[in-house]
Amino acid sequence: MTNSGHISERSTGGADAVPRAHVLSVDVEDYFQVEAFAGHVARESWERWPSRVVENTQRVLDLFEAHQARGTFFFVGWVAARFPNLVREAQARGHEIACHSYSHRTVYRLTPKEFREDTHRAKRVIEDACGTAVQGYRAPSWSITKDCLWALDILAEEGFTYDSSIYPIHHDLYGVPGAKRFPYTHDCANGLPLREFPPATLRFAGTNFPVAGGGYLRIFPSAYTELAFRKFESMRERVVVYLHPWELDPEQPRIRAPLKSRLRHYTNLGRMKSRVETILGRDKFLRFCDVLEEERCAPALRQESHAELAAAAAIGLAESEGTQG
Ligand SMILES: [Zn+2]
Repeated sequence: MTNSGHISERSTGGADAVPRAHVLSVDVEDYFQVEAFAGHVARESWERWPSRVVENTQRVLDLFEAHQARGTFFFVGWVAARFPNLVREAQARGHEIACHSYSHRTVYRLTPKEFREDTHRAKRVIEDACGTAVQGYRAPSWSITKDCLWALDILAEEGFTYDSSIYPIHHDLYGVPGAKRFPYTHDCANGLPLREFPPATLRFAGTNFPVAGGGYLRIFPSAYTELAFRKFESMRERVVVYLHPWELDPEQPRIRAPLKSRLRHYTNLGRMKSRVETILGRDKFLRFCDVLEEERCAPALRQESHAELAAAAAIGLAESEGTQG
């Protein structure tokens, strides 16, 4: 199964663009399930680790509620299976429920068959918990890369209408450096459309840099995050913010792992709450399903530009040079 690679880019910079709100997303996983520790915490041992995901996710829910912010919660299926009440609580408090795989394995290490099985299982268990159809997917560790674009076809076939897994940056573990920075639509090989919402990046000297999510939100100076919001707002684009419940838990048990992994996971955990509060205090935030609904009501938001199609087809995913951030 291959992805056709036909990409169309939304044009939002016109005078008809509606006022922007940003997007808030949470990848609901426990502290011991992250990729940085995958070599040190066997999946078979997950049951034995003291879980903190319920309390940590409720911390996120309280924070969002205090700022009247709504977001999309991408649940790991393993978490949803064990804590279905947490899924229901997030939904009851006004948030969208979406899928973050079942076993939190990177997509590029799976075969298409394994990916389909993992995704199908996750979608079923999450939908059983929340009682509504799940339409959004985010890969563990942004692991849909150029080597596994077939995953997009499978997502569309499994009933997903959007994805938020392709990080348009260089990174040692993930990313598609040439990918577009703003929402676009994959025309999958099976003829189904799949909307893509990339996490936010800033562009300097022809290179994309990650911003306003996870470790980049915790570790980089607040002024850098603020710059991203101002740039995006000047372009009438949305910042896709993401965070993890464990990032609001400075007291979590420490896992023995190489220095690089520990730095990525533990740096500035104590500052994350105030970083998130700053963002929540400055802007309005939506769920991905709200954005899709806005696009349905205002088709101009999804207006297709064919200028980049040739370049996009060359690599499957291409950067639009029309807007610079
Ligand atoms: Zn994750």
